[in-house]
Amino acid sequence: MKDEINIDGEIFHNTVKILKDLIKFQTVSGKPNIQLIEYCENLLTKSGAVSVKTFNQSKTQANLFSTINGDGSNNGGIVLSGHTDVVPATANEWTSNPYEAREDDNKIFGRGTCDMKGFIACTLAVAPLFGSKKLKKPIHFSYTFDEETGCLGVPLVLTDLKKRNLNFSACIIGEPTNMKAITANKGYNEYVTHFTGVSGHASNPENGVSAIEYAIEYSNKLLELKNKLKSKTVKKKIFSPPYSTLQIGKISGGIGANVIADKCSLEWEVRPVNEEDENFVTKSIDDFTNNILLPKLKKNSPKGNIKKEIIGEVVGFYKEENSEAVNLVCNLTGDNSIGTMSFGTEAGLFQSSGISTVICGPGSIDQAHTVDEFISYDQLKKCLKMLVNLQKRIESK
Ligand SMILES: [Zn+2]
Repeated sequence: MKDEINIDGEIFHNTVKILKDLIKFQTVSGKPNIQLIEYCENLLTKSGAVSVKTFNQSKTQANLFSTINGDGSNNGGIVLSGHTDVVPATANEWTSNPYEAREDDNKIFGRGTCDMKGFIACTLAVAPLFGSKKLKKPIHFSYTFDEETGCLGVPLVLTDLKKRNLNFSACIIGEPTNMKAITANKGYNEYVTHFTGVSGHASNPENGVSAIEYAIEYSNKLLELKNKLKSKTVKKKIFSPPYSTLQIGKISGGIGANVIADKCSLEWEVRPVNEEDENFVTKSIDDFTNNILLPKLKKNSPKGNIKKEIIGEVVGFYKEENSEAVNLVCNLTGDNSIGTMSFGTEAGLFQSSGISTVICGPGSIDQAHTVDEFISYDQLKKCLKMLVNLQKRIESK
């Protein structure tokens, strides 16, 4: 066929060029991403997209939501979604500069190559193709900030979409899955609990209140909950491990053996397999704090306090029966094998706004967040193929 797209040709070269540009923007979570967003917006505008941006409070970070939709219909659009933030990189551990893409052995190395600027680059490289044809349904590009630190950006997008009353048939989240369809992921809740006591000399314990001792009691309660989660019978064993997990990852407090610590904090997380477990942990630990531990602390010192800070609560992505998004992606990739993941993504948030969602993107999660992160040419090409097939599918003849 004359207009058959050659995946190895211009479209691939454009993808690599765009990916190299994207790597240069050091969009570590929490840092400004405006320049990257402007770069993407500019490319999409050239392809005929109309964009809406939503910002964080200080306007240093933005989400981009762009639509290619020649006839202005609101007919079950398809969202291609990626996050623009990357996890930090310690440059001296890398073989080369993490923010300067390096090509070697049919791979591209750089922070964010697989998680998930590779996917974003593929969507940007295919955008002109979507823009050049009449489409039966709109195609949307959603690029968000601060996914890695608790999906802070995407709720702003979803609120805006609700206001605009757009309707969608599917959302494809391009997290690295080796281009396999992922139909569920665990939730991800992260907390820091701060304990305040009263400092004093260790020789006279009655004069102080040890924040560390309260943190230990709280930890013991968390460990008890951890064991309860593990022993619960899980109806659908779709995750590995199949049960909800809880772990305490950091304890900080105290200055030395002879001083009663007035401050201590615990950093901990939960990865629930269902909503019931999400609520179980929150309710149990809050009840324990409010009814037992805090009254005990207050009795010893009215100034004492326990405060649970929510770093992020990312709702899980739970398997849909007969998912339109999963069917679509399996059709486009020709691969019907499906799987699940044990880490949080934006998928659960799109799903809870009523959009059928699937996770499918280039690269392997084994390379995400690692030193010398890379994506292979082969994975980029597989992703381009899926997107070109999508374009063919929604093109109106
Ligand atoms: Zn990611």
